[in-house]
Amino acid sequence: MAKIGFIGLGNMGAPMALNLTRAGHDVSGFDSVEAARNAAAEQGIAIAESNAAVATGADIVILMLPNGEISKAVAAEVIPAMNAGALLIDCSTIDVASARAVHDMAGKANVLCLDAPVSGGVGGAAAGTLTFMVGGSAEAFEKGRAVFEIMGAKAVHCGDGGAGQSAKICNNMLLGISMIGACEAFSLAEKLGLSQQALFDVVSTSSGSCWSVNTYCPVPGVGPQSPADNDYKPGFAAALMLKDLLLSQQAAGDCGAATPLGRHASELYQAMVDAGKGGTDFSGMIEYLKSGAAKG
Ligand code: NAD
Repeated sequence: MAKIGFIGLGNMGAPMALNLTRAGHDVSGFDSVEAARNAAAEQGIAIAESNAAVATGADIVILMLPNGEISKAVAAEVIPAMNAGALLIDCSTIDVASARAVHDMAGKANVLCLDAPVSGGVGGAAAGTLTFMVGGSAEAFEKGRAVFEIMGAKAVHCGDGGAGQSAKICNNMLLGISMIGACEAFSLAEKLGLSQQALFDVVSTSSGSCWSVNTYCPVPGVGPQSPADNDYKPGFAAALMLKDLLLSQQAAGDCGAATPLGRHASELYQAMVDAGKGGTDFSGMIEYLKSGAAKG
C-alpha cells in the first residue's frame, strides 16, 4: 500500500481522499481551512499538520485546489519535502501555463509529475467514477495508474505536461458552447409552437445530437433525468463552467487560437453568473436565455 498525501479537502478532494483511505492506502490529508480539516477528519481521513508534513516521505502527493496560483504556491511548499522519484499529481482544474510551471518545479527536484484534472463532479468523486485527463511522462502515468483506478473509472494519458489541462478546457469549452446551442434550439422550438418532446425525439436521433441534448437535456420532463428535472440544482454549476471557459480563453489568447464561440459562451456564462445564477446548474442557461436578458 502506498503512502499518499492529499492536499485540498474540499467538495472534490475529501471524497477522493476517502476512497483512497477505504482502499487501504496510508493517506494523510491537509487543507488550509480548519472547517475542511475537521469535516474530513470526521469522515475518517487522517489529518497532518501542514502541506509539507503531508508530503514528507509520501510516495504520491495529490493536490485538489481552486486555481493555478494556489497550485504553484502549494507545489513550491511540498516539492522540497518530497523524495526524488515520488509522484506529484495535480488534479485541480488550472491554467495550462501554471500546470507547466508545476511540472518544471517538480522536474528540477527529480519528482515525477502529472497534471490530471477530472470530469464527473462531486457525484463522480464520491462514487469513484471520475475521468482523469492526464499530462506527463509515461513513467509518471504508470506510477499513478493504481490511484486513478481507485478514484475514477477512466484515466486517459493525453500527452506531456499540460496536456491534461489542455484536454479538459477544450472539452469543457465545447460543452459550454453545445449547451448554449441546445438551450437556444429548445427555446426557439417553444416559440415556434413545436413540442419540446418532439424536438428531443428528432435531435437525439439526428445530426444535432450531442451530450447536452441526449444525456443532459436542459428541458424538464424530456430525455433522461437531468438537473432540469430538479429545478436546475447542480450537477455542474454555471460558475464552474465559467471558470473553465475563462481558462479556455486564457489558453486561446496565449497560443493565438481563434475561438469566437468560446469567447461568446464565456460572455453568456459571465452574464448568467453576474445575474446571481452562478450556483444554478449550467443547463439553467435556458432560463437565462428565456428571461430575455441575453437578447441581441
Ligand atoms: P473547493 O473549494 O471545495 O476545495 C478546494 C479546497 O482547497 C478548499 O477546501 C480550500 O480550503 C483548499 N485550499 C485552498 N488553498 C489551499 C492551500 N494553500 N493549502 C491547502 N488547501 C488549500 O473546490 P472543489 O469543488 O473541491 O474543486 C477543486 C478543484 O476541482 C477545482 O480546481 C475545480 O475547478 C475542480 N473541479 C471541480 C468540480 C466540481 O464539481 N466541484 C468538477 C470538476 C473539477
